[in-house]
Amino acid sequence: MFHLVFQTYLKTAYRRRNRLNRRMNKEEQEHLKERLLQLRLELQEVDDLSRESTKPVELDQSAIGWVSRVDAIQAQQMSLASARRRQAQLSAVEGALRRIESDEYGYCFVCGEDMDLRRLEADPTSTRCLECAKRK
Ligand SMILES: [Zn+2]
Repeated sequence: MFHLVFQTYLKTAYRRRNRLNRRMNKEEQEHLKERLLQLRLELQEVDDLSRESTKPVELDQSAIGWVSRVDAIQAQQMSLASARRRQAQLSAVEGALRRIESDEYGYCFVCGEDMDLRRLEADPTSTRCLECAKRK
């Protein structure tokens, strides 16, 4: 029983290693570009909306009590953290769009192979194939 399972595993592993992803076609790249542009728009919109909440907390003692000041500071730190996350996402999106423009999109940064389209579909900003991402 174990032997059979092992053989099947080997066969699958072998097939997987030898499966090279094909180059995406123009339509597929265009579709991913649309998604990246949409993503950039969304990130920028959220950023504009949340700019308000990352303003420094008023330290006017009379205006708000100590507890609400702590609350306000915590809320501010949380929105700063998500602003930083958004900024990182945004630069990943920009990078992907730049790679599309210079025709370098869809290759793994590490091994240079074509990326799996399903992986790019899940995250159009990914820069590493599944194998290389796992090895990280
Ligand atoms: Zn790779």
